[in-house]
Amino acid sequence: SSDLPRFDTAALRAQDAAHHLHPFTDTQSLNASGTRIIVRGAGVRIWDSDGHEIIDGMSGLWCVNLGYGRQDLVDAATRQMQTLPFYNAFFKTTTVPAIELASLLTEIAPPGFQHVFFTNSGSEGNDTIIRLVRRYWDLMGQPRRKTIISRRNAYHGSTLGGASLGGMSGMHAQGDLPIPGIVHIDQPYQLQHGHAGESAEHFGLRAASWLEAKIRELGPENVAAFIGEPVQGAGGVIIPPASYWPEIQRICDHYGILLVSDEVICGFGRLGHWFGCQHPHIGTRPDLITFAKGVTSGYLPLGGVLVGERIAKVLIERGGEFQHGFTYSGHPTCCAVAVANVQAMRREGVIERVAQDLAPYLATAFGTLADHPLVGDVQSLGMVAGLVLYKDKASRTLFDAELGVGYRCRDHCFQNGVVMRAVEERMIIAPPLVMTHEDIDEMVRRIRRSLDDTW
Ligand code: PLP
Repeated sequence: SSDLPRFDTAALRAQDAAHHLHPFTDTQSLNASGTRIIVRGAGVRIWDSDGHEIIDGMSGLWCVNLGYGRQDLVDAATRQMQTLPFYNAFFKTTTVPAIELASLLTEIAPPGFQHVFFTNSGSEGNDTIIRLVRRYWDLMGQPRRKTIISRRNAYHGSTLGGASLGGMSGMHAQGDLPIPGIVHIDQPYQLQHGHAGESAEHFGLRAASWLEAKIRELGPENVAAFIGEPVQGAGGVIIPPASYWPEIQRICDHYGILLVSDEVICGFGRLGHWFGCQHPHIGTRPDLITFAKGVTSGYLPLGGVLVGERIAKVLIERGGEFQHGFTYSGHPTCCAVAVANVQAMRREGVIERVAQDLAPYLATAFGTLADHPLVGDVQSLGMVAGLVLYKDKASRTLFDAELGVGYRCRDHCFQNGVVMRAVEERMIIAPPLVMTHEDIDEMVRRIRRSLDDTW
């Protein structure tokens, strides 16, 4: 694109490989092939240092929900930085944006949420969940209730707590994780765990029953909480059957166990509701909600926990000082951007448009890929979607993981101007919530071309 400054991509790549240890990246692979340097974004598109235009099918990392180049968010940050770039919320001080955001978030939260604790990220939000849940049960006089049940292949972050709650076996293997007091059950992924001929509804109930079995095994008096993403995102956009979450809710209610909804991806409109738990396909009433990413559309880092009144009341009335917090909890510039972001979403009717127009349009457009010889099990919910790459569709035979077909497809996608992510046999997208129908059509055309190139 002619309005971009010129970059010396080769020199930048060499510098990058020499000095930057990237997250979730094999540094030697950078030396071999170099990384892609993204230099600009506008709307739903990004440009790399060679001027290549790419539709961002992943909203950055599931976060740039309102797209790139929003002057209102830039202005909110600028104004706050000029007025008061930073002050903390420790020791009985606070700032106006932190006050405004806390109040705004309780307006858009499901009923029963009146309090919020701020962090900088989703990982810190989930660490905060562990602290809150343990504190709650101590204050309730049930200190044995310490175990949190999560799911294999879940992603809850990369701190020791977040990675422990998460169920990524590779992460656990590298850090002697999980920390004590966290156990995992299998995910509701029918391709992996379904029986031949089993209905989705039956599978959903059976997958939920694994929670009940685990609670009984541990003894309900030892179980503090269950945590899950409404739709497992980083695990490969695993959309559970509609029967799954209501049954999980029933089990949590029955045993008096706290339900934690990790809405770091599903929150802020991704599923066409402020929070994913409000989507009728999910339909839970969580006690705690983790959020991050979309709260600021990724323009600045911010996360936190919405604390249900059942817990907030006990914490406030019996707990005294909660000895937990981060320097940047309630950072005024980040909060100012979040306020502007939520207000823009309201003003522009983003949630309603996703629910009524964009999500059904994406489902239909993305669904057309099902006729491709490589593709099966195309699914979407709101503005997340995934498909499975099959070696042989008829017999549902997957490619040998060693071949890295998904990664090849992802690289073709980049080449063809669309960001798509590969997770083992699955190819996934989570595009910005401000796409036009034409953007979606063009994205799907580029994906189809990439599937052809992979085939
Ligand atoms: N929880 C979920 C569901 C996530 O998808 C992520 C990040 O992708 C996190 C937590 C961690 O958030 P962060 O990377 O902001 O620490």
